[in-house]
Amino acid sequence: MRKKFLLLILVYLICLFSTTACKRISTKNETKKELVLASFTVLADIIENIAKNDDFVVRSITKPGIEVHGYKPTPSDLINASEAFVFVDNGFGFEIWSEKFVSNLQVKKITIADDLGPIFISEDTYKGKPNPHAWISPKRGILYVDIIVESLSELRPSKRELFEKNGETYKNELSKIDQDFSLFINNLEKDKRYLVSCEGAFSYLANDYGLNEVYLWPVNAESQITPKRMARTISLVKEKNVPAVFCESTVSNESQMVVVNETGTKFGGNLYVDSLSVDSGPANSYLEMLKHNLEIIKRGLE
Ligand SMILES: [Zn+2]
Repeated sequence: MRKKFLLLILVYLICLFSTTACKRISTKNETKKELVLASFTVLADIIENIAKNDDFVVRSITKPGIEVHGYKPTPSDLINASEAFVFVDNGFGFEIWSEKFVSNLQVKKITIADDLGPIFISEDTYKGKPNPHAWISPKRGILYVDIIVESLSELRPSKRELFEKNGETYKNELSKIDQDFSLFINNLEKDKRYLVSCEGAFSYLANDYGLNEVYLWPVNAESQITPKRMARTISLVKEKNVPAVFCESTVSNESQMVVVNETGTKFGGNLYVDSLSVDSGPANSYLEMLKHNLEIIKRGLE
């Protein structure tokens, strides 16, 4: 184990001093493909849809189901990153680890948040900080596509046409989901428009579609429920007679079950936010993730 770790460190150090040599390292099937590395699975899937072509391969540093905010990169993550020509992250403080992670690597960096308007967190220790989870709204997902198409085109101008064409096709799919969601909310009685979750990850969705957002903690980096937050959530669910509450796939729903037991509301299910599911799961792509979330929310609130 120790030997393997030392070997990884050695390869990493070699890569640091000879980046071009390492950029050519690739598996048999990926010969000559350029590597685009994303910080998390949702972003990797969006990029894959834009850059799908024989020239590129896209990978995510964090794997499906893994908590992303406070992830601790491994030596092999560093080796992967040194092979990439560009590293794409979300920003808005989502990947606490990414700034340090890329600081020693000779890799270009695209940060989605640099070109996206934030929604700010309004409470507690996170007050005034941008909420990172913009991709959770299909409307913002369309903006992610535009930003990635433009940024990749600047780095690889000869592929602009390909990126733009793929981007348009992909945005059409996102528009359909956007329309479905709008239709559902418009038909939902106003007093049922509450989205109660574990993490405060739905601000963009709530804002873009007219839902009231309630959560147990602001971001997963601090996934502890305080008595004050618990009491506030319980009283709101009771007072507004909220038909269902939800949690997210990357955290335990234990705290939300307390709300269920205290109020008699039902548990609506797990929503996917920070990570896609494994291939066999219900959210194995960004589009499937949005559709799954919409379906779960529909079933819970209708
Ligand atoms: Zn999160």
